[in-house]
Amino acid sequence: MKHFTRRSFSSLATKGILGSALLGNLPMANAFTLSDKNKKLGIALVGLGSYSTYQLAPSLQETEHCYLAGIVTGTKEKESIWKEKYNIPKQSIYNYDNFDAIVKNDTIDIVYVALPNSMHADFCIRAAKAGKHVICEKPMAVSVAECDAIINACNENNVKLSVGYRMQSDPYTKEVKKFVKEKTFGDVLFVSSDAGYISKGNPDQWRLNKKLSGGGALMNMGVYAIQTSIYGTGQNPISVSAQEFSTRPDYFKDTDETITAQFKFENGAVAHMMTSHNANGNRLKVHCSDGWFQLDPAHSYGPISGITSNGNILEFPHKRQQALQMDDFSKHILTGSKNIAPGEMGKRDMIIVEAIYKSISEGGKEQKLSLGNLGVVS
Ligand code: NAD
Repeated sequence: MKHFTRRSFSSLATKGILGSALLGNLPMANAFTLSDKNKKLGIALVGLGSYSTYQLAPSLQETEHCYLAGIVTGTKEKESIWKEKYNIPKQSIYNYDNFDAIVKNDTIDIVYVALPNSMHADFCIRAAKAGKHVICEKPMAVSVAECDAIINACNENNVKLSVGYRMQSDPYTKEVKKFVKEKTFGDVLFVSSDAGYISKGNPDQWRLNKKLSGGGALMNMGVYAIQTSIYGTGQNPISVSAQEFSTRPDYFKDTDETITAQFKFENGAVAHMMTSHNANGNRLKVHCSDGWFQLDPAHSYGPISGITSNGNILEFPHKRQQALQMDDFSKHILTGSKNIAPGEMGKRDMIIVEAIYKSISEGGKEQKLSLGNLGVVS
């Protein structure tokens, strides 16, 4: 008979693997809350590039419900640097080849995949098969089919899945959702959203390589504008039409430079988004029947800045969005609270991305979308 240590029991309970026979009739989340409410979940970061180095690892020094417990890297030299800086035990350091051995590591509850987009599906699926909860960076994958494969792997292995949509945990986003839901400024009529920056770096970087990125500005920054168009209206679009513009084809040889798209919504609202690797944009403006509200910047690491048509300046205390995001997901695992950025949200956005590319390939033809309420979390 297998003996359960307290740690392995908690780990199994966290993953929902223990049956109700062991836990009586308590729902899993309640059972966990009652038995171990002060537990902090161990996170392993996969891919120690700029996002892990400058955002995720520092944020994990501020989290309340999770901590940096392990790393997975393809660069040998990073192992000792991270081990020393973050006091990571040797047995919780993996490379891409021996990563699957993480299944035996009870100190790791969550695997956070922050690799180039084309590698997300492989590592998320391997993490799920190892019985670890998964955070997958945005964009969730390079196709809807890959999103489905990640979602299925997490369901089959009874682990939770979330997408690295840090803005979903930001207080300004929550305020926007509240304005929309409560009709503070009346009905939403038109949303305008921009997300872009001017790319000047190495033209061979993975973000400009379609095989590794899945696409250009749309895959990288466009998902923010898709997200703001949706939480700016509180609903999924029913159709999209899109256009692509290229002014530096020598630099953007393989991926899209600038894309604009227009969404229609069931209630008659309309949204326009712009995303670019060749123009700066970081704004959400929501025009309503009785006024407007705006975030500018709307998608950066913060602090975000907001104003409304009645002259109010929105102000919330600043905390790293990534710390809020990882704590929100950990609370979801520990207590059964809402998963505010589930895999279905990442899949929905990838359906929209594919529809935008299709519209462009068909000269801007309107594409119908049948999303229902997929991924809408208020
Ligand atoms: P990066 O280029 O700084 O790091 C990529 C990491 O992947 C590096 O450690 C690199 O060694 C490793 N890697 C493994 N195989 C590779 C390959 N074939 N080519 C290139 N690198 C390879 O990228 P990043 O900015 O850290 O982005 C990583 C992921 O995080 C991406 O999916 C990106 O979209 C996402 N991201 C999200 C946010 C956000 O705000 N949520 C911000 C930045 C990046």
